[in-house]
Amino acid sequence: MAKRLSVIVSQAQGKNPAKRKLEEDIVAGLLFESGIDVTIVPNLYDIQADSTSLVALQGVGGNAVLCSWLFERAARWVLDRHGIHGQHGTVLLQAEDDEADEDEADDSDEPADDKDRVIDSRDLPNRKIYCLDLKASNSADEFIAEVKRIYSENQVQVVGLTDVLNAAPLPKVASQQAGDQNENGSAAGQAVVNRIEEKSGRRWYPVIDYSRCTNCMECIDFCLFGVYGVDRIDTILVEQPDNCRKGCPACSRVCPENAIMFPQHKTPAIAGSMDAAASLKIDLSQLFGAPAEGKSAEELAAIERDEQLVMAGRNAVGAKSSAGRSEISTSSKPDELDDLVDELNDLDI
Ligand code: SF4
Ligand code: SF4
Repeated sequence: MAKRLSVIVSQAQGKNPAKRKLEEDIVAGLLFESGIDVTIVPNLYDIQADSTSLVALQGVGGNAVLCSWLFERAARWVLDRHGIHGQHGTVLLQAEDDEADEDEADDSDEPADDKDRVIDSRDLPNRKIYCLDLKASNSADEFIAEVKRIYSENQVQVVGLTDVLNAAPLPKVASQQAGDQNENGSAAGQAVVNRIEEKSGRRWYPVIDYSRCTNCMECIDFCLFGVYGVDRIDTILVEQPDNCRKGCPACSRVCPENAIMFPQHKTPAIAGSMDAAASLKIDLSQLFGAPAEGKSAEELAAIERDEQLVMAGRNAVGAKSSAGRSEISTSSKPDELDDLVDELNDLDI
């Protein structure tokens, strides 16, 4: 049985006609490819937790190709943030400023050192996710050729039980194609196209690359807007994304592993380009361009944080690097609370 391949097209923010045309040309070019299901959603980064788009994306099973205007690394971790997990699939069509050094171009973008990364503790499903950056070419044909290459590559992989279980049909949302359908809900010789149209305002929040993150907690200490939190096993997460201050990339500068991305930032290093991921060897002050001249990344981050604090009607705090958690913990007085709980326990009621 041929394995089906899901292709997700994440639309650009705004209505740029050239971008929209490229997206539509890719969809049109895939329409008559057998074994391919296409889902078109609004901008992946902007979609909300309770949206139809997210339900559709989470219903996509098996191996998948994501076509988006985000850098490959950013796209992968935005999907992960939305609960869509998988192994890294290698794409051959890459944007020029997103090509890792040759000695880094193995099967993943993960750093080659012996630090414990959050991803090491995760059990990823047996599926591959390939992220195609639509900035890589103006030609729809090149993307269609890359999708076909991935489809062929997938046919030679062994079909595991997980793949079969994951091959659930896509949710039926505005299906565009007619004809006799097979048991997968698709017509022989044609792709199924599900187009999800819903309004989503622009969002701004950090995205964590868990293949780099060491769970050091620098970011939660630094942010004074309550964006970060931890899960049940004390792993860092972006808990209140919409608390993030629009346009502020400050915490991306203080992360020692370059694991924090702002996918819509105009600076590729902050938006998640692979060049930035491979740049741990580079002086960070060079990475962030002219505003960083003469200042360290930490100093620049402190200035940006102060700007946001003042705009929010609060006091600037300067370069206090761990103001976040220490302020929270001071106000909640954990020692006193612990003593109180101990006293209650001692009452044995
Ligand atoms: S600062 Fe970076 S490495 Fe440290 S917990 Fe935050 S995202 Fe992870
Ligand atoms: S430090 Fe600034 S950019 Fe980072 S999460 Fe907090 S508000 Fe957002």
